Amino acid sequence: MNDFLIFHWLKEVNHWGKTPEGGISRLAFSQEDKGARKYVIDLMEEYGMEVRIDEAANIIGKYAGTEPDLPAVVIGSHLDSVPSGGKYDGVLGVLSGLEVVRHLAQNNIRGRHSLEVIVFSNEEGCRYPYTLFGSSVMMGDFHKPWEEIKNMQDEQGIKLVQEIKELGGKPEKLFLARRNPEQIKAFLELHIEQGLVLEDKGVSIGIVEGISAPIRFVLKLMGSADHAGATPMVLRRDPLMGASEIMLALERIVKETSVTAVGTVGQINVSPGAVNIIPGTVTLSFDIRDIDLAARNQIVRNLEKVIREVCQTRDLKYDFQEIFNISPVMLDTQMISLIEQVCQEMEIPAIKMISGAAHDAMVMANHVPTGMIFVPSVAGISHNPSEYTRNEDIMKGVEVLGQTVLRLIK
Ligand SMILES: [Zn+2]
Repeated sequence: MNDFLIFHWLKEVNHWGKTPEGGISRLAFSQEDKGARKYVIDLMEEYGMEVRIDEAANIIGKYAGTEPDLPAVVIGSHLDSVPSGGKYDGVLGVLSGLEVVRHLAQNNIRGRHSLEVIVFSNEEGCRYPYTLFGSSVMMGDFHKPWEEIKNMQDEQGIKLVQEIKELGGKPEKLFLARRNPEQIKAFLELHIEQGLVLEDKGVSIGIVEGISAPIRFVLKLMGSADHAGATPMVLRRDPLMGASEIMLALERIVKETSVTAVGTVGQINVSPGAVNIIPGTVTLSFDIRDIDLAARNQIVRNLEKVIREVCQTRDLKYDFQEIFNISPVMLDTQMISLIEQVCQEMEIPAIKMISGAAHDAMVMANHVPTGMIFVPSVAGISHNPSEYTRNEDIMKGVEVLGQTVLRLIK
């Protein structure tokens, strides 16, 4: 693989959703996402892949093997981005899959096993809150009630079902997108690290051993919205002061419980939100992750205890609701050693590591042997217009992916 078209493709796909700051806003199923999807479908067809759109609007491109009944080797990632995200997250995994297919096609190489490249729909869950939507539907892990799906709409009132239909999916028959895990021999995802570990070690390749997973909550604290001047401190029931205590407690609990755990309050809403009114209601989000499920559960229990105590002391009412919960997963040991072996033979330094961010590979890993290849994010920056991965690192990633695929399809 001496020549690479991936850099050209990357530029082309990233015309879709380009922001003035040089970032990417390509929310799931938006016009920008549709443009990028179309570009990728055209590429798939150009290199001899058979393309189909499943019920969840996942794009599945198949490069047939010589024994089409054998389970397929699958490479997958996503094209959607967060608002004002970067140029590499997701799209790099899709395009590196296509680079591998192009190499096979141009050298007339076919394995016994078919090779598929999948674009999973709505991975980020920003426009419609179903994170990891496409992969979860495909593996039978999506269990939202139809009543909810049917009415799900974005901020402009555009329904999710309408967008899925427009892309050739069948939202009322999502269950038909479910794949039998026995049809998949292995799943591979190449992704940017989105953290600092590879940069810190000066290594181009990370072999993911496990993916840390989030549990998310919304906490609503209710006190009394009173006059900021007329209400003495001792008579206040101020939910924002309570929230502050709880947030600092979260930081302490996470640090005390597990070195691999992280906890974040990323959203906070204060109502009525005026300079001269003590807040009446405060709503805040919690995102807590760890590779160690027992530790993660412990953090949640300790956090709940603090919430109870703070609310009691400050005479606040509260409502603590879980809104998202997936378990951390360890990746397949055989896939890890296969990728390791490839790196050794190619003399590309690699380290084994944990992924702090969730990926489609996390869903896949619960059902099929899954391997994941990380390439460095310069300065660890991601979900940001400055997201950047050096070309030489991308090339090494694609080479490792390609060699791993060659061994799996033969
Ligand atoms: Zn991603």
